[in-house]
Amino acid sequence: MPAATATHCPYCALQCAMTLDPASAAAVEQGFPEVAGRDFPTSRGGMCRKGWTSAELLASPSRLTAPLLRGADGAFREVSWDAALDRMAGEFRAARDRYGADGVGVFGGGSLTNEKAYQLGKFARIALRTSRIDYNGRFCMSSAAAAANRSLGLDRGLPFPVTDLDDARTVLLLGTNPAETMPPFVQHLEHAREHGGLVVVDPRRSATARMADDGGGVHLQPTPGTDLVLLLGLAHVVVHDGLADRDYLERRTTGLDALLPVLNAWWPERVEQVTGVPAARLRRAAHLLARDRRGTYVLTGRGVEQHVDGTDTATAAINLALLLGLPGVPGSGCGTLTGQGNGQGGREHGQKADQLPGYRSITDPAAREHVAAVWGVDPAELPGAGVPAVELLTTLGADHGVRCLWVNGSNVVIGAPDSGAVARGLQALDFLVVCDFFFSETAEYADLVLPVLQWAEEEGTMTSLEGRVLRRRRAVAPPPGARDELWIMAELARRLDAPGTFSTEPEEVFEELRRASAGGKADYSGISWAALDAGEACYWPWPAGAAGGTPRAFLDRFGHPDGRAVLVPVRPRAAGRAVDPSPRPNRRERLHAPGSLTLITGRYLEQYQSGNQTRRVPSLHEARPGAVLEIHPATAAALGIRDGAAVELTSPRGRVLAPARLSTDIRPDTVFLPFHFAGDQTANRLVSAAAVDPVSSMPEFKAGAVTVRALDPEETAR
Ligand code: SF4
Repeated sequence: MPAATATHCPYCALQCAMTLDPASAAAVEQGFPEVAGRDFPTSRGGMCRKGWTSAELLASPSRLTAPLLRGADGAFREVSWDAALDRMAGEFRAARDRYGADGVGVFGGGSLTNEKAYQLGKFARIALRTSRIDYNGRFCMSSAAAAANRSLGLDRGLPFPVTDLDDARTVLLLGTNPAETMPPFVQHLEHAREHGGLVVVDPRRSATARMADDGGGVHLQPTPGTDLVLLLGLAHVVVHDGLADRDYLERRTTGLDALLPVLNAWWPERVEQVTGVPAARLRRAAHLLARDRRGTYVLTGRGVEQHVDGTDTATAAINLALLLGLPGVPGSGCGTLTGQGNGQGGREHGQKADQLPGYRSITDPAAREHVAAVWGVDPAELPGAGVPAVELLTTLGADHGVRCLWVNGSNVVIGAPDSGAVARGLQALDFLVVCDFFFSETAEYADLVLPVLQWAEEEGTMTSLEGRVLRRRRAVAPPPGARDELWIMAELARRLDAPGTFSTEPEEVFEELRRASAGGKADYSGISWAALDAGEACYWPWPAGAAGGTPRAFLDRFGHPDGRAVLVPVRPRAAGRAVDPSPRPNRRERLHAPGSLTLITGRYLEQYQSGNQTRRVPSLHEARPGAVLEIHPATAAALGIRDGAAVELTSPRGRVLAPARLSTDIRPDTVFLPFHFAGDQTANRLVSAAAVDPVSSMPEFKAGAVTVRALDPEETAR
């Protein structure tokens, strides 16, 4: 093994490049590998605090190192791998016999390597024969993915390299805060900022919004949940001020005639009434976007996507980009910023309830035939589409729900909406298996906990936010008691007499993934392990036999059969109250509960996802030990809340306790809470699982209704 290993950060989808040196003097002294930044186009040697401190977890004393089985007394005891896997296979069989194949479920994650994600989907379909598989990426990327598929015929988060943004003059950032969530990305926005071209849409004056406010552009601060209307207003100005690219629309799109009547109804003054964004500011933003189309980009993030109308909102963003003639033209474009490390690859290779590898539909007979042939099974044996994550989790233990669940690479007790109900569902299961490297909050409900490998202990591939496939490399040996999930699946498949083969070698699994993806939308068949090893820039789709991959998608044609993009007429779904007339449970609660506020959940720079990793890094924990409620001073004064005071947030689903931080960065009708924390700080306890996007099944993480009150000193002491 070479002294220093070239790999990538374990956390977000920017996948900053790093080297890990376990033998340097510093490494020997500190007891874990030395991390160094590595030159790479997207990160250019940079990393955020999470990346720089990531290797500390390789020496964490809380690492799981042996299978843990819960005994009749409720206590966990270490058991051998043979005993653990025998028990797991036995429970799978028993549940299948008792409830049918769909009595067993699998819940994956967007941080798993491509090989694990692929193998997990295959394992579920042919070893367990269950349709019940989905993953936590459903909570991140599903609305953006649905919109891109609908409008452009292909879902690749960024259909162009991140470095294309270096020459941008105008960038519209909708509901994304990269200055906090992926700081090295911000260097690619500098050119646009220097030209006053950052247009940031966020109800909070986030770190990214401040970059716009400080002379770099325009910050639009709409009422949460009104982004769709805001986008209709921007598109209205583009059309009515003669800023649309008529030639592009004629050549490359369909649907303009159906879209125009929708846009006509959203003139800026009407949009102002709904969103609170001044009409003049909206017009200024629209003209900024149109000033130099070849340098303009439209980017969305979870802030506008994690809503019950998230797919329509992401669609409206694409419509705006199409009206301006941006997608599929060098030097401009639109896309979404993927969050989880392998959020892109994780949704391409079969973890989703309705998908087979290569971004194929599980209901398409030709797709089933192709994948079944690669797997060595009869297509008729493959189950149909399962149910999306929220439905899978809210029916745990119920009559027709999953009774025996395997959670792999996800901490649903922190990350899922209505997390209290999820915890109760886990308790209702006959058997729960959790694979993780640390004892997560979800593991607390498990019957069996299996220790698996961390990123620097494994080989594999990841697909970054720009659709580039990257090599993850082993830099250190894993603890003796931990095992690779590929090995776990192979052992279970053998015990379950599963058809097909389950390799334990990542390179072999990647070779099979290539074949399974061949001809699909996410075609990896031309990408070789050797090319990845050599550091070649491998962007999908790269069909076998093609000279190279596709750094920039859509240059010649979009993904629909006619090669054109579709302008989809999206509109707020019902008449009546302008902001939100629809009968969505959490919004109805807000409308009817006097004094309630809109809750936005989000991230801290120092924490990642459910925090199961980053909360264990001492310097990150010290910097962000818990959730702090951000609240406007005027709202706080009305509620008798002082800066630093303990407060209680409640929704019909639960309560959360946090200290308050008074800030004029947030709107008076809105509060912000990070979602990384456990116990009585779990923000997702408050979030509804009943309010989901009808197209993507994305829960509404960004517009819940809560009431907030100050706790008196006695309550705080209890
Ligand atoms: S968390 Fe994201 S931004 Fe930070 S170092 Fe890792 S990949 Fe880069």
